[in-house]
Amino acid sequence: MLARQRPRLLEDYSENGPSLLDERILTFVFKSANWNPFLICQCACVCKRLSELAKRLLWKEFCLSRAPKMMNDLLSGEINGIINGGWNALGKLMCFCAGCHTTRNFQCYPINGHFVRKTRFSCTSGRSFLVPQCRKDTLYVTDPCEHLDNDEDEDEDVGLFRGIIKSFATSRTRRMLLEKGARLEQNEVCPFCRAEVWSLTQAQMIPPSAQRRLACYEDSLEYFICRNGHLHGMCSLLPISDSEGLSEDEGC
Ligand SMILES: [Zn+2]
Ligand SMILES: [Zn+2]
Repeated sequence: MLARQRPRLLEDYSENGPSLLDERILTFVFKSANWNPFLICQCACVCKRLSELAKRLLWKEFCLSRAPKMMNDLLSGEINGIINGGWNALGKLMCFCAGCHTTRNFQCYPINGHFVRKTRFSCTSGRSFLVPQCRKDTLYVTDPCEHLDNDEDEDEDVGLFRGIIKSFATSRTRRMLLEKGARLEQNEVCPFCRAEVWSLTQAQMIPPSAQRRLACYEDSLEYFICRNGHLHGMCSLLPISDSEGLSEDEGC
């Protein structure tokens, strides 16, 4: 009878050639898959070493491949190419609508997060979300992802949006939050990096231009910003006929 052979481990291959865990090989594999985010997630679940590689390299390449101009701009404001909150959090922000739930300043039915195949981030739109004193900050923000209201008694749809402020640690927005003595929220965390968040609604730092840009009802707008500068927010959208002509391009 033949003896059962021991299954060959990945490490065995390193004696006769490059290991399958060689970073260069993995980089080629993921590049050929166009930095597929589902593949990166699966890879990161395999072991600690691959999880670290995904955080340090794979998510970075994913972000650079999807929005090179935006990423280079974000990087230009950081020291040593280190992105606040990490590349994995930024990768998630790029391709994941975070869903929402009722907060201190916004009532809604629960909406689950979901993958978004393509998203446009705009710093022109971003200016509308900042109070005039903070408009020199650069905020990249998405258009609202529209979710139909499941409640038959309500006729408002919910718009969810997300974004990031460049160099948040030295931004006017952060300085203003601290000067105002704004408190971090007790029951909310950033859906992208799990850091604590401030409510800009609570800090009264939401300008009327944000409501116009989103075409949403007055007093139905809430957004949060985390310690790493990630933004996520929600609003009740006006019916299309009421919102026509309210959105205007203000230029970057
Ligand atoms: Zn969505
Ligand atoms: Zn965050």
